Amino acid sequence: METRTDGMLSVVAPAMNEQDNVPRLCAAIRSVMENAGIPYELIVVDDGSRDATWAAVLEESRKDPRVRGVSFSRNFGKESAIFAGLAEARGACAAVIDSDLQFPPETLAEMYAVWRADEADIVEGRKRARQKESLTYKLFSKTFYRLLRAMSGVDLDNMCDFKLMDRRIVDDLNAMPERQTFFRALSDWPGYRKKEVLFTVAERSSGRSKFTPVKLVRLALGAISSFSAAPLQLVTGAGCVSFLLAAALAIFTLCFPFAEHANELFCWTAVILLALAAILMIALGVVGFYLARIYEEVKGRPRWIVARRTDR
Ligand code: UDP
Ligand code: MG
Repeated sequence: METRTDGMLSVVAPAMNEQDNVPRLCAAIRSVMENAGIPYELIVVDDGSRDATWAAVLEESRKDPRVRGVSFSRNFGKESAIFAGLAEARGACAAVIDSDLQFPPETLAEMYAVWRADEADIVEGRKRARQKESLTYKLFSKTFYRLLRAMSGVDLDNMCDFKLMDRRIVDDLNAMPERQTFFRALSDWPGYRKKEVLFTVAERSSGRSKFTPVKLVRLALGAISSFSAAPLQLVTGAGCVSFLLAAALAIFTLCFPFAEHANELFCWTAVILLALAAILMIALGVVGFYLARIYEEVKGRPRWIVARRTDR
Protein backbone atom coordinates (compact mmCIF):
# COMPACT_ATOMS: atom_id res chain seq x y z
CA MET A 1 0.00 0.00 0.00
CA GLU A 2 1.40 3.35 -1.00
CA THR A 3 1.50 6.06 1.61
CA ARG A 4 0.95 9.75 1.25
CA THR A 5 4.66 10.34 1.02
CA ASP A 6 5.32 8.50 -2.22
CA GLY A 7 1.84 8.15 -3.69
CA MET A 8 1.46 8.04 -7.43
CA LEU A 9 -0.88 10.57 -9.02
CA SER A 10 -3.17 9.30 -11.76
CA VAL A 11 -4.11 12.13 -14.08
CA VAL A 12 -7.31 11.45 -16.01
CA ALA A 13 -7.93 13.46 -19.16
CA PRO A 14 -11.12 13.05 -21.21
CA ALA A 15 -10.51 13.90 -24.86
CA MET A 16 -12.89 14.22 -27.74
CA ASN A 17 -11.41 15.41 -31.03
CA GLU A 18 -8.31 16.83 -29.36
CA GLN A 19 -5.61 15.54 -31.76
CA ASP A 20 -3.53 18.71 -31.45
CA ASN A 21 -4.00 19.05 -27.71
CA VAL A 22 -3.04 15.51 -26.65
CA PRO A 23 0.71 15.90 -27.38
CA ARG A 24 0.71 19.35 -25.74
CA LEU A 25 -1.09 18.00 -22.68
CA CYS A 26 1.33 15.09 -22.34
CA ALA A 27 4.32 17.41 -22.61
CA ALA A 28 2.88 19.94 -20.16
CA ILE A 29 1.99 17.29 -17.56
CA ARG A 30 5.39 15.62 -17.95
CA SER A 31 7.29 18.83 -17.37
CA VAL A 32 5.21 19.89 -14.37
CA MET A 33 5.36 16.45 -12.73
CA GLU A 34 9.07 16.00 -13.32
CA ASN A 35 9.86 19.47 -12.00
CA ALA A 36 7.82 18.84 -8.87
CA GLY A 37 9.13 15.28 -8.52
CA ILE A 38 5.68 13.72 -8.53
CA PRO A 39 5.35 10.08 -9.62
CA TYR A 40 2.45 9.97 -12.04
CA GLU A 41 0.57 8.24 -14.81
CA LEU A 42 -1.56 9.98 -17.42
CA ILE A 43 -4.71 8.25 -18.61
CA VAL A 44 -6.20 9.77 -21.72
CA VAL A 45 -9.75 8.64 -22.43
CA ASP A 46 -10.61 9.04 -26.08
CA ASP A 47 -14.35 9.68 -26.08
CA GLY A 48 -15.18 8.48 -29.60
CA SER A 49 -13.06 11.04 -31.41
CA ARG A 50 -13.42 11.31 -35.17
CA ASP A 51 -9.99 12.81 -35.71
CA ALA A 52 -6.50 11.47 -35.01
CA THR A 53 -6.78 11.72 -31.21
CA TRP A 54 -6.30 7.99 -30.69
CA ALA A 55 -3.24 7.90 -32.97
CA ALA A 56 -1.80 10.73 -30.88
CA VAL A 57 -2.46 8.81 -27.65
CA LEU A 58 -0.81 5.67 -29.08
CA GLU A 59 2.20 7.67 -30.17
CA GLU A 60 2.56 9.34 -26.75
CA SER A 61 2.21 6.06 -24.90
CA ARG A 62 4.85 4.48 -27.15
CA LYS A 63 7.26 7.30 -26.26
CA ASP A 64 6.42 7.33 -22.54
CA PRO A 65 4.97 4.28 -20.75
CA ARG A 66 3.52 6.56 -18.09
CA VAL A 67 0.93 7.60 -20.66
CA ARG A 68 -1.90 5.13 -21.09
CA GLY A 69 -5.18 5.36 -22.88
CA VAL A 70 -8.53 3.79 -23.58
CA SER A 71 -10.72 4.55 -26.54
CA PHE A 72 -14.51 4.34 -26.53
CA SER A 73 -16.42 2.65 -29.32
CA ARG A 74 -18.37 5.91 -29.79
CA ASN A 75 -18.95 9.24 -28.07
CA PHE A 76 -20.36 8.51 -24.61
CA GLY A 77 -19.90 12.02 -23.19
CA LYS A 78 -17.44 13.64 -20.83
CA GLU A 79 -19.04 12.14 -17.71
CA SER A 80 -18.48 8.59 -18.97
CA ALA A 81 -14.94 9.48 -20.02
CA ILE A 82 -14.12 10.79 -16.54
CA PHE A 83 -15.50 7.71 -14.80
CA ALA A 84 -13.81 5.33 -17.24
CA GLY A 85 -10.52 7.09 -16.49
CA LEU A 86 -11.06 6.83 -12.74
CA ALA A 87 -11.78 3.13 -13.13
CA GLU A 88 -8.39 2.77 -14.86
CA ALA A 89 -6.50 4.84 -12.28
CA ARG A 90 -3.96 2.92 -10.20
CA GLY A 91 -2.52 5.82 -8.20
CA ALA A 92 -2.80 6.67 -4.53
CA CYS A 93 -4.73 9.69 -5.70
CA ALA A 94 -6.31 10.73 -8.98
CA ALA A 95 -7.01 14.05 -10.65
CA VAL A 96 -9.25 14.98 -13.55
CA ILE A 97 -8.14 17.61 -16.04
CA ASP A 98 -9.50 18.78 -19.43
CA SER A 99 -7.24 17.94 -22.33
CA ASP A 100 -7.55 21.37 -23.92
CA LEU A 101 -5.13 22.87 -21.35
CA GLN A 102 -7.74 25.29 -20.04
CA PHE A 103 -6.93 24.02 -16.56
CA PRO A 104 -3.25 24.80 -15.79
CA PRO A 105 -1.21 21.62 -15.11
CA GLU A 106 0.85 23.62 -12.58
CA THR A 107 -2.24 23.70 -10.38
CA LEU A 108 -2.08 19.88 -10.31
CA ALA A 109 1.25 20.11 -8.48
CA GLU A 110 -0.33 22.55 -6.03
CA MET A 111 -3.25 20.17 -5.46
CA TYR A 112 -0.89 17.24 -5.01
CA ALA A 113 1.07 19.16 -2.38
CA VAL A 114 -2.13 19.75 -0.38
CA TRP A 115 -3.03 16.07 -0.64
CA ARG A 116 0.46 14.91 0.24
CA ALA A 117 0.58 17.14 3.31
CA ASP A 118 -2.53 15.23 4.38
CA GLU A 119 -4.51 18.45 4.62
CA ALA A 120 -7.44 17.19 2.57
CA ASP A 121 -8.81 14.12 0.82
CA ILE A 122 -10.31 16.05 -2.03
CA VAL A 123 -8.73 19.15 -3.50
CA GLU A 124 -10.99 21.11 -5.79
CA GLY A 125 -10.08 23.69 -8.38
CA ARG A 126 -12.19 26.82 -8.15
CA LYS A 127 -12.12 29.21 -11.08
CA ARG A 128 -11.06 32.75 -10.40
CA ALA A 129 -13.73 35.19 -11.62
CA ARG A 130 -14.78 34.16 -15.11
CA GLN A 131 -13.55 36.74 -17.53
CA LYS A 132 -13.85 35.65 -21.10
CA GLU A 133 -17.09 33.74 -21.14
CA SER A 134 -19.97 34.96 -23.24
CA LEU A 135 -22.85 36.79 -21.55
CA THR A 136 -25.36 34.05 -22.40
CA TYR A 137 -23.07 31.37 -20.94
CA LYS A 138 -22.59 33.42 -17.78
CA LEU A 139 -26.32 34.02 -17.44
CA PHE A 140 -27.06 30.36 -18.08
CA SER A 141 -24.52 28.99 -15.62
CA LYS A 142 -25.41 31.50 -12.89
CA THR A 143 -29.12 30.68 -13.18
CA PHE A 144 -28.38 26.97 -13.27
CA TYR A 145 -26.14 27.01 -10.20
CA ARG A 146 -28.63 29.16 -8.29
CA LEU A 147 -31.45 26.75 -9.19
CA LEU A 148 -29.38 23.74 -8.20
CA ARG A 149 -28.40 25.30 -4.90
CA ALA A 150 -31.98 26.21 -4.08
CA MET A 151 -33.24 22.74 -4.89
CA SER A 152 -30.54 20.45 -3.60
CA GLY A 153 -28.21 22.50 -1.44
CA VAL A 154 -25.23 21.73 -3.70
CA ASP A 155 -23.19 24.89 -4.29
CA LEU A 156 -21.18 24.65 -7.49
CA ASP A 157 -20.63 28.26 -8.49
CA ASN A 158 -17.23 28.60 -10.21
CA MET A 159 -16.59 24.90 -9.68
CA CYS A 160 -15.60 22.57 -12.47
CA ASP A 161 -14.36 19.04 -13.10
CA PHE A 162 -10.79 19.98 -12.15
CA LYS A 163 -10.06 18.18 -8.88
CA LEU A 164 -7.76 15.75 -7.14
CA MET A 165 -9.13 12.93 -5.01
CA ASP A 166 -7.65 10.47 -2.58
CA ARG A 167 -7.80 6.76 -3.47
CA ARG A 168 -10.65 6.27 -0.99
CA ILE A 169 -12.87 8.69 -2.87
CA VAL A 170 -11.92 7.18 -6.23
CA ASP A 171 -12.92 3.77 -4.89
CA ASP A 172 -16.19 5.18 -3.56
CA LEU A 173 -16.95 6.72 -6.96
CA ASN A 174 -16.03 3.54 -8.79
CA ALA A 175 -18.40 1.60 -6.57
CA MET A 176 -21.36 3.86 -7.28
CA PRO A 177 -23.89 1.94 -9.34
CA GLU A 178 -25.68 4.90 -10.89
CA ARG A 179 -25.55 5.31 -14.65
CA GLN A 180 -26.34 8.97 -14.96
CA THR A 181 -23.63 10.83 -13.18
CA PHE A 182 -22.68 14.43 -12.50
CA PHE A 183 -19.04 14.21 -11.50
CA ARG A 184 -18.74 17.79 -10.29
CA ALA A 185 -21.26 17.22 -7.50
CA LEU A 186 -20.92 13.47 -7.08
CA SER A 187 -17.26 13.70 -6.08
CA ASP A 188 -18.42 15.89 -3.20
CA TRP A 189 -21.04 13.46 -2.06
CA PRO A 190 -18.89 10.95 -0.10
CA GLY A 191 -17.80 13.81 2.17
CA TYR A 192 -14.24 13.68 3.61
CA ARG A 193 -11.99 16.69 4.13
CA LYS A 194 -12.09 19.22 1.33
CA LYS A 195 -9.84 22.06 0.28
CA GLU A 196 -9.98 24.49 -2.60
CA VAL A 197 -7.25 25.77 -4.86
CA LEU A 198 -7.86 28.85 -6.98
CA PHE A 199 -6.81 28.89 -10.61
CA THR A 200 -7.28 31.00 -13.69
CA VAL A 201 -8.98 29.43 -16.69
CA ALA A 202 -6.77 29.65 -19.77
CA GLU A 203 -7.82 29.99 -23.38
CA ARG A 204 -8.55 26.72 -25.15
CA SER A 205 -5.22 25.52 -26.57
CA SER A 206 -6.68 24.55 -29.94
CA GLY A 207 -9.97 23.54 -31.52
CA ARG A 208 -13.43 24.54 -30.33
CA SER A 209 -15.52 23.80 -27.26
CA LYS A 210 -17.19 20.40 -27.54
CA PHE A 211 -20.17 21.51 -25.51
CA THR A 212 -23.12 22.63 -27.59
CA PRO A 213 -25.96 24.51 -25.85
CA VAL A 214 -28.08 21.36 -26.17
CA LYS A 215 -25.40 19.27 -24.41
CA LEU A 216 -25.17 21.88 -21.65
CA VAL A 217 -28.92 21.96 -21.08
CA ARG A 218 -28.97 18.17 -20.97
CA LEU A 219 -26.13 18.17 -18.43
CA ALA A 220 -27.93 20.77 -16.32
CA LEU A 221 -31.24 18.87 -16.32
CA GLY A 222 -29.43 15.64 -15.56
CA ALA A 223 -27.62 17.29 -12.66
CA ILE A 224 -30.82 18.66 -11.18
CA SER A 225 -32.70 15.39 -11.45
CA SER A 226 -29.87 13.34 -10.00
CA PHE A 227 -29.48 15.62 -6.98
CA SER A 228 -32.97 16.79 -6.26
CA ALA A 229 -36.58 15.71 -6.32
CA ALA A 230 -37.73 19.31 -5.85
CA PRO A 231 -39.36 19.58 -9.32
CA LEU A 232 -41.65 16.72 -8.33
CA GLN A 233 -42.61 18.52 -5.13
CA LEU A 234 -43.17 21.69 -7.13
CA VAL A 235 -45.86 19.76 -8.99
CA THR A 236 -47.60 19.02 -5.69
CA GLY A 237 -47.31 22.70 -4.81
CA ALA A 238 -48.93 23.75 -8.09
CA GLY A 239 -51.75 21.29 -7.36
CA CYS A 240 -52.36 22.80 -3.93
CA VAL A 241 -52.45 26.34 -5.32
CA SER A 242 -54.93 25.32 -8.03
CA PHE A 243 -57.09 23.65 -5.39
CA LEU A 244 -57.20 26.82 -3.29
CA LEU A 245 -58.13 28.90 -6.35
CA ALA A 246 -60.86 26.46 -7.24
CA ALA A 247 -62.24 26.60 -3.69
CA ALA A 248 -62.26 30.41 -3.72
CA LEU A 249 -64.05 30.45 -7.06
CA ALA A 250 -66.62 27.92 -5.84
CA ILE A 251 -67.41 30.03 -2.76
CA PHE A 252 -67.74 33.13 -4.92
CA THR A 253 -70.10 31.35 -7.33
CA LEU A 254 -72.23 29.99 -4.49
CA CYS A 255 -72.53 33.38 -2.79
CA PHE A 256 -73.21 35.45 -5.90
CA PRO A 257 -74.86 33.05 -8.37
CA PHE A 258 -76.46 35.71 -10.56
CA ALA A 259 -74.09 38.60 -10.05
CA GLU A 260 -73.89 41.13 -12.88
CA HIS A 261 -70.43 39.83 -13.86
CA ALA A 262 -71.60 36.24 -14.35
CA ASN A 263 -70.91 36.36 -18.08
CA GLU A 264 -67.41 37.68 -17.64
CA LEU A 265 -66.78 35.02 -15.04
CA PHE A 266 -67.68 32.39 -17.59
CA CYS A 267 -64.89 33.62 -19.88
CA TRP A 268 -62.46 33.53 -16.99
CA THR A 269 -63.48 29.96 -16.32
CA ALA A 270 -62.27 29.04 -19.79
CA VAL A 271 -58.94 30.73 -19.07
CA ILE A 272 -58.63 28.94 -15.75
CA LEU A 273 -59.41 25.60 -17.38
CA LEU A 274 -56.74 26.13 -20.01
CA ALA A 275 -54.20 27.18 -17.37
CA LEU A 276 -54.97 24.08 -15.35
CA ALA A 277 -54.54 21.89 -18.43
CA ALA A 278 -51.16 23.54 -19.01
CA ILE A 279 -50.07 22.93 -15.43
CA LEU A 280 -51.20 19.33 -15.70
CA MET A 281 -49.24 18.72 -18.86
CA ILE A 282 -46.11 20.35 -17.47
CA ALA A 283 -46.53 18.22 -14.36
CA LEU A 284 -46.80 15.11 -16.53
CA GLY A 285 -43.65 16.20 -18.30
CA VAL A 286 -41.77 16.54 -15.02
CA VAL A 287 -42.96 13.16 -13.82
CA GLY A 288 -42.14 11.69 -17.24
CA PHE A 289 -38.64 13.14 -17.05
CA TYR A 290 -37.95 11.43 -13.74
CA LEU A 291 -39.56 8.26 -15.06
CA ALA A 292 -37.21 8.32 -18.04
CA ARG A 293 -34.26 8.70 -15.66
CA ILE A 294 -35.44 5.70 -13.67
CA TYR A 295 -35.93 3.75 -16.90
CA GLU A 296 -32.36 4.54 -17.93
CA GLU A 297 -31.02 3.40 -14.58
CA VAL A 298 -33.10 0.23 -14.53
CA LYS A 299 -31.88 -0.86 -17.95
CA GLY A 300 -28.46 -1.01 -16.40
CA ARG A 301 -26.55 -0.63 -19.67
CA PRO A 302 -22.83 0.02 -19.38
CA ARG A 303 -21.89 3.69 -19.19
CA TRP A 304 -19.21 3.25 -21.83
CA ILE A 305 -17.66 0.60 -24.06
CA VAL A 306 -13.90 0.43 -24.42
CA ALA A 307 -12.97 -0.49 -27.98
CA ARG A 308 -9.18 -0.10 -27.82
CA ARG A 309 -6.50 0.26 -25.17
CA THR A 310 -2.86 1.26 -25.38
CA ASP A 311 -1.69 -1.67 -23.28
CA ARG A 312 -3.18 -4.37 -25.47
N1 UDP B 1 -15.10 16.10 -23.83
C1 UDP B 1 -15.31 14.72 -23.92
N2 UDP B 1 -16.50 14.28 -24.43
C2 UDP B 1 -17.49 15.13 -24.84
C3 UDP B 1 -17.26 16.52 -24.72
C4 UDP B 1 -16.06 16.97 -24.21
O1 UDP B 1 -14.45 13.94 -23.54
O2 UDP B 1 -18.52 14.66 -25.31
C5 UDP B 1 -13.82 16.60 -23.26
C6 UDP B 1 -13.06 17.56 -24.16
O3 UDP B 1 -12.23 16.88 -25.07
C7 UDP B 1 -12.28 18.37 -23.16
C8 UDP B 1 -13.19 18.39 -21.95
O4 UDP B 1 -14.10 17.33 -22.11
O5 UDP B 1 -11.06 17.76 -22.81
C9 UDP B 1 -13.92 19.71 -21.81
O6 UDP B 1 -14.59 20.01 -23.00
P1 UDP B 1 -14.57 21.43 -23.66
O7 UDP B 1 -13.22 22.06 -23.53
O8 UDP B 1 -15.08 21.29 -25.05
O9 UDP B 1 -15.64 22.18 -22.77
P2 UDP B 1 -15.58 23.68 -22.22
O10 UDP B 1 -14.19 23.93 -21.77
O11 UDP B 1 -15.99 24.53 -23.35
O12 UDP B 1 -16.58 23.67 -21.10
MG1 MG C 1 -12.44 23.54 -22.56
